[in-house]
Amino acid sequence: MVCCALMMSSRILAGNSLGKLFNNEKIDPGKLNFCGYTCPADCKFYIASVENDETGKKEAFKIWKIKERFGVDFDPDTSVCWKCKDMLKPEGVVIQNCTVRACAIEKGYEACIECDKLTTCDKDLWKRFPDFFNAVIEMQIKYKQQSASF
Ligand code: SF4
Ligand code: SF4
Repeated sequence: MVCCALMMSSRILAGNSLGKLFNNEKIDPGKLNFCGYTCPADCKFYIASVENDETGKKEAFKIWKIKERFGVDFDPDTSVCWKCKDMLKPEGVVIQNCTVRACAIEKGYEACIECDKLTTCDKDLWKRFPDFFNAVIEMQIKYKQQSASF
């Protein structure tokens, strides 16, 4: 089961992004979530949100320890996730609490790989998932190389 970076283990996060690093696909920040993660199509939280399935939302809320992490009680209206970049949907509890997302939006980036401060960025997400952080830094290096060669 895979979902937003705020809720995942560093091993899965790193694997998710590393898949992009080691193929020849051109990296497009517009196709990445702000942190560099790519949401899987089968995310339980997303599916429960689309289907407005309260039982599925409750399950996701519990699995990803949202009460423990963010100090909020379950509410079917806010316990939703419409993925990181759908700006037309209401913000769910997870993306509301993401400082990386808020920062990238404020700076006008599609993803943190566009940011020159990435390697020294002290956001909590990177500290909690250091393997993922390293993978995103590697992705930025590759992205810059690709940009220079086009
Ligand atoms: S930027 Fe934040 S909300 Fe978006 S996928 Fe990454 S961790 Fe999740
Ligand atoms: S400072 Fe740069 S790398 Fe850090 S969260 Fe903001 S946009 Fe992302």
